[in-house]
Amino acid sequence: MTHQIVIIGAGYAGLMAANRLARRLSPGRARVTLVSDAETFVERVRLHQVAAGQAVPEAAVPDVLRGARFVRGRVTGIAPDRRELRLGSTTMAYDTLVYAAGSVADLEGAAGHAFTVAGAEDAGRLRDRVARIGAGGTLAVVGAGATGIELATELAECHPALRVRLLASEEPGVQWSPRARAHLRRVFDRLGVEVVTGAKVVEVDASGARLADGRHVTADAVAWTTGFRVITLAREAGLAVDGHGRVLVDETSRSISHPDVYAIGDAAAVRGPGGRELRMACATALPVGRNAADAIVARLGGREPSPLRFRYVVHCVSLGRRDGLIQFVHADDRPHAMALTGRPAALVKELVVRGATWMARRGMIPQMPGATRSSTRSEPSAATSANAPEANARR
Ligand SMILES: Cc1cc2nc3c(=O)[nH]c(=O)nc-3n(C[C@H](O)[C@H](O)[C@H](O)COP(=O)(O)OP(=O)(O)OC[C@H]3O[C@@H](n4cnc5c(N)ncnc54)[C@H](O)[C@@H]3O)c2cc1C
Repeated sequence: MTHQIVIIGAGYAGLMAANRLARRLSPGRARVTLVSDAETFVERVRLHQVAAGQAVPEAAVPDVLRGARFVRGRVTGIAPDRRELRLGSTTMAYDTLVYAAGSVADLEGAAGHAFTVAGAEDAGRLRDRVARIGAGGTLAVVGAGATGIELATELAECHPALRVRLLASEEPGVQWSPRARAHLRRVFDRLGVEVVTGAKVVEVDASGARLADGRHVTADAVAWTTGFRVITLAREAGLAVDGHGRVLVDETSRSISHPDVYAIGDAAAVRGPGGRELRMACATALPVGRNAADAIVARLGGREPSPLRFRYVVHCVSLGRRDGLIQFVHADDRPHAMALTGRPAALVKELVVRGATWMARRGMIPQMPGATRSSTRSEPSAATSANAPEANARR
């Protein structure tokens, strides 16, 4: 009988898994179905560009699938005991489920007034708001992780008539090398980004952000980049999850409570070097999605799957369209002294972003010279992470 594999989510992780499964399994052996509430695949790692008013590539989900079936719909429930999904008023059966529902913004005390760049619609709302702010107006970006740094520099470069303030609890780039931090300071100066450190934002109101020390930072719009969370679908289904609601998985991305379910991408709590949880990142979503697909194929064929082997290589951060920062890191994400900056770094970052989409669309990750076959070592060097240890280990 044809094995029914259903994937929830058409982000980097879900697309990688769907395309790899469809590529590796014959239609008679398995039917691969991807369910997503979004009709379009938008490169999520470019949403700060969207917020700044740039047009970015997007594609209809069916056009980026190679052999998998697409069903548009929002999954509202999972019944693992019956191996069934609820999609509005209908149900869909599965034999194997791949949970790749990603993450959304966690606005904490900022709900109602803050903007985010967590999803395409969120970024579009911020873009529309920014467009209505007159010259001399102020934009505040909360959080100096990689998302906050990318957003602040992109906004400052695209809207030189606006004042951009980056509200940071610590020095931006504190987790990177001195060379990287020095470069960030130069770029902020050049673009006129005002960095407010020691700023713990406790509330966002209509006129700006209130800080824990009582200060109030005035702004026409406040963009919140510090928190990301997962939806409650997995927890409600009774899957074993961590304190953040991310699905607990083994080293093949299989749920530790439900062997018919795999979880990948931002929605999964995957362990990497030293047993540390991998950051929510496109750079982790792709190799984890690939490895989960390979594990499913192996088990269907009665073989023992290979465990995920992952190492970090670099953090790639854009600083507007003409500047960037590539921080080289050890396998466990600690920074090397070495960092590439300026235009060459901007070019590398752009290639990495394009490469990530290319890999997700093909369900493959090219091997780098010297990388071992079963390792994901090559992956991050092509699609590597950007980002800082923000809330929920984002990026
Ligand atoms: C502005 C920005 C810049 C970033 N830059 C980088 C970067 O440079 N490098 C990097 O490594 N990472 C970066 N990231 C992080 C990266 O984008 C995420 O880690 C990555 O997108 C996670 O992929 P995913 O497939 O797990 O989830 P997502 O991309 O979030 O995709 C989840 C999918 O699931 C669908 N879905 C959710 N719930 C349901 C449901 N109930 N029913 C049906 N479908 C559902 C969604 O519509 C979506 O299609 C950035 C993030 C942001 C916001």
